[in-house]
Amino acid sequence: MTERLPCKTDGCKATILPATAAETGGICMPCHQAQERQKRRDYVEKHRKTVNVYENLSDPVEILKIMHVPRRHDPLIQYVPYPMSKEQLYVSLATDEAGRMLKHALELLAEGDEEQVDGILSSLVCYRNENIAAALPALMEQGMYYPALLYKDASPAVRDRLLEQVEWDDENRNLLLLALSWIGDPLVVRRFQEWRLQPPEWGERLFVQPEFYALEGGWELTQEGDRRDLTHSLSYAIRVTSEKPHSEDEVCAARFLTTSTSTCPWCEGNLTVLMDVATTHPSLAYLALSLERLKIQTCERCGCFCTIYMDVDSEGVPVWSRFNHKPDYLRSIDPDDYSGVSDYRLTLSPAPHSPFFAAIWTLDQQNSQIGGHPSWVQDAEYPSCPCCGKRMRFIGQIDWADFVHLGEGIFYMFVCPEDNVTATLYQQS
Ligand SMILES: [Zn+2]
Ligand SMILES: [Zn+2]
Ligand SMILES: [Zn+2]
Repeated sequence: MTERLPCKTDGCKATILPATAAETGGICMPCHQAQERQKRRDYVEKHRKTVNVYENLSDPVEILKIMHVPRRHDPLIQYVPYPMSKEQLYVSLATDEAGRMLKHALELLAEGDEEQVDGILSSLVCYRNENIAAALPALMEQGMYYPALLYKDASPAVRDRLLEQVEWDDENRNLLLLALSWIGDPLVVRRFQEWRLQPPEWGERLFVQPEFYALEGGWELTQEGDRRDLTHSLSYAIRVTSEKPHSEDEVCAARFLTTSTSTCPWCEGNLTVLMDVATTHPSLAYLALSLERLKIQTCERCGCFCTIYMDVDSEGVPVWSRFNHKPDYLRSIDPDDYSGVSDYRLTLSPAPHSPFFAAIWTLDQQNSQIGGHPSWVQDAEYPSCPCCGKRMRFIGQIDWADFVHLGEGIFYMFVCPEDNVTATLYQQS
């Protein structure tokens, strides 16, 4: 039997074969591998370069072009981030600069670089609500129908082509219907109504009837065949602020993510006030609520599993609704396991942003906002009012990832202005 030798590393008790010792210089394989890893780390540390790809650049268009180029991870390069986010840069662009970005996207489209085209056009449409109708014929030429939101400002000619193509294009029908829902003009509404009355033969191959695609565009087809909007175009970001409030009024105007004194009858933890905003704020005034403030309350634990309704009484106080039904699959939840309430001071931004700012969840903006279009993580979902049965209106959303350490998932908030009922639902990837 071959005699085994002790590993030479201090404190290591392993023994090794002479052959291994010859190969590693007398240490065991795990010690050898640890040494090799350390060598690599030292090498990277010593040779890593700091690179600023934005150095000496002041043209925001050139900076954005660089931001959109996918960058391969290289451990030997540490990139200096640009001091402004992509969203901030897009918002700050002058009209002609936005036009240059659009032109750049079309050049990339001709080269077949759909990933970058998607990123640039989505940013122009979401962050700026830029009309990119001029680019749509080229997109159709390339068979690029995603993201469908890009088609929202389509010209009548493009819309008519989509309406015609949806009848025969089995492969792209889902995306074509989404594009039509984003267009949502009177002609599209009428066609959705016609499909409802006379279901097309291809309708059987969809997961839902064509009319329900309207929800993805933020509206529904009423019983009478009209368009009823479920979102509102005035949208204000909810953001962390380090500034001290200027006055007590400012503190009172809008509050977010505070702990309620009421408790959840299911898990017995405190409820969370997602928002508490004066109904005179422009983002809510259109609802003409008979309340001074709109408070949206939910259970941040149980609310991850089902829709939670609250009745708002005449004093504006939210009360747990009798229409809440505890789902069978909701087992016991320990309230101490969760804590979403934020330590930050959150405020509404002073000026509205694009209604589509957060409409594409996969872009990397912060999504928390009042008004605008929801950032659906899954399919669009508008709860029905338990009193009148109508779909409730979307009034805002809070993305846990924006404010909560390691947080994820979005709480969507809804109201039925006729019945003063609020609802929340939650989606995550
Ligand atoms: Zn060892
Ligand atoms: Zn609960
Ligand atoms: Zn109602």
